[in-house]
Amino acid sequence: MNEPDCLFCKIVTGDITADVVYESDSCIGFRDINPQAPTHVLVIPREHVATINDLPQGGAPIVGNLFLAAKAIAAAEGIADEGYRTVVNCNRAAGQTVFHLHLHLLGGRDLDWPPG
Ligand code: 5GP
Ligand code: ZN
Repeated sequence: MNEPDCLFCKIVTGDITADVVYESDSCIGFRDINPQAPTHVLVIPREHVATINDLPQGGAPIVGNLFLAAKAIAAAEGIADEGYRTVVNCNRAAGQTVFHLHLHLLGGRDLDWPPG
């Protein structure tokens, strides 16, 4: 299901353009408009889920498919062996700004830990 006012649903439907690097039946991956690393791809489910808190009880495949997509994108970007980070922000304190579940895939440089 798509939400009419959701930015990422509009990317799924093609109403808003994005630099898409990965597509499957369940998810798409596209480059972040404000990249924080040489590779910064957002992986989203095609179906609208606002946050981790909104995942249905049977939603394990939604999450699993996001990680399988991240694995494939990391390999395609050539960062799988060197290493990369996956991040899913949930709600205000974590800095979530787009309320359609998305996994950040960050790589191509050394990443600090702990995060800010
Ligand atoms: P959040 O802060 O919600 O975890 O991450 C949202 C991400 O979406 C941010 O990194 C932001 O740069 C990215 N973003 C926001 N609007 C757009 C857009 O229209 N296109 C793309 N490709 N990325 C976007
Ligand atoms: Zn959405």
